[in-house]
Amino acid sequence: MVKNYLYFNEKMEKLPWSELTKLHNEKIKITLNRMWNNNKYLQDKIKKAGLSPNDFKTVEDVKKFPFMEKQDFLANYPYGLCCVPRHELVRMHATSGTSGKKPAVGLYTRKDLEDWTDLTAKNLVAIGMTNKDVFQNTTSSGLFTGGFGYTQGATRVGAMVIPFGGGMSAKQVQFFIDFQVTTIHAIPSFALRLGEQVAELGLDPAKDLFLKRAIVGAEAWPESSRQRIEKGLNVKAYDNYGITEGIGPGISCECLEQKGLHIWSDYFYPEVIDPKTGELLNEGERGELVLTSLFKEANPILRYRTGDITTIFKSTCPCGRTGWIMDRVSGRKDEMLIVKGVNLYPSMVEEEIYKVPDTTDNWEMIIKTEGVMDHVYVTVEGKSGTDFAKIKNNLEKMLYEASMMKIPVTVVPAGTLLVPEGKAKRYKDMREKPDDFRGYKGTKGGHKDGE
Ligand code: ZN
Repeated sequence: MVKNYLYFNEKMEKLPWSELTKLHNEKIKITLNRMWNNNKYLQDKIKKAGLSPNDFKTVEDVKKFPFMEKQDFLANYPYGLCCVPRHELVRMHATSGTSGKKPAVGLYTRKDLEDWTDLTAKNLVAIGMTNKDVFQNTTSSGLFTGGFGYTQGATRVGAMVIPFGGGMSAKQVQFFIDFQVTTIHAIPSFALRLGEQVAELGLDPAKDLFLKRAIVGAEAWPESSRQRIEKGLNVKAYDNYGITEGIGPGISCECLEQKGLHIWSDYFYPEVIDPKTGELLNEGERGELVLTSLFKEANPILRYRTGDITTIFKSTCPCGRTGWIMDRVSGRKDEMLIVKGVNLYPSMVEEEIYKVPDTTDNWEMIIKTEGVMDHVYVTVEGKSGTDFAKIKNNLEKMLYEASMMKIPVTVVPAGTLLVPEGKAKRYKDMREKPDDFRGYKGTKGGHKDGE
């Protein structure tokens, strides 16, 4: 079926690679100069690496420059990373911050706000929204970037915007009906809740609602959640990615194909690095996403380590968009385990398990030392009446391909494993000395508070 691909800025979204590279060469240099000339902290950071903006000739040189990290934002709260005179700022947003800690702050000039509005508009048009749609934003327009961000973008597209905010799921659903809402923005857990609410009200989403699509993000959400959201609301649910340090939502978004997120590569330059060594990885290799902004004025970012684990590759998407595509974020670097020198992400194990249709959503992984060697064991639940030996064989093969590690799988009947409460960890690291003390005591994700 040929899809009706829509574009917010077709020329830029389909910019040939030669021109994209030219843009990266030019704009990263401008970003470096902006930092160097306007911010002592950032200048010192570049100086400490023995560099100046003159060491940047082409995009190939970007890898010489130091990373920015979350710590740079926290240590420079509130205005420390600002690269424009204070009176040029027109807005700030912030991450929620963990208790007792300062949040990361995003600052915006008038042009930054305009650009950001274009970026979220691009997301919405990529998922098929037009000025004929009615858009309900189920996140509040406060410090959280997902509220204002999408309300601005949807207004720019020309849709009718309902800036509902969060909570009150029954009233949200009533508005869906009354205002004939076609498009919503929600965080994944709330999108699931809305689906439940529709069922609790005895409504048939296909007959009683007008919804067509949902743009969903801000927390990692597996394919199994996507299926539930799509069924519960009778929508296509599209993933999108954004972080406050970057600009908010509008960094990348799925198109109608739902096969990876188009990074708006005329605004961001992405890299993927090994989260342990910082070494640059090749196209298609899994690691930590690093972003450089090309146009941001108030607080530009240079090689910002997002902490989010993904892969990037050059787009060959049928929609015709050029630039980079990123996989759906599969976890946080603080969740990474190192077993026998190999990086192992519990979220990646989960992804493989969820690909097997005959398993339940419940699983368990144990890492333990036997003799001198570390071993990983996975237990999954097989649905009743399915072939457990087949599940075991298939999953062992898939896990080996994904991790390059032999992971024995045990299949037990559905209902055998304990159901973890909420977002509890499904893995136990029982080694006496976990490598680097990474991962096993890591905090649980939910970080992408930016979007
Ligand atoms: Zn596409």
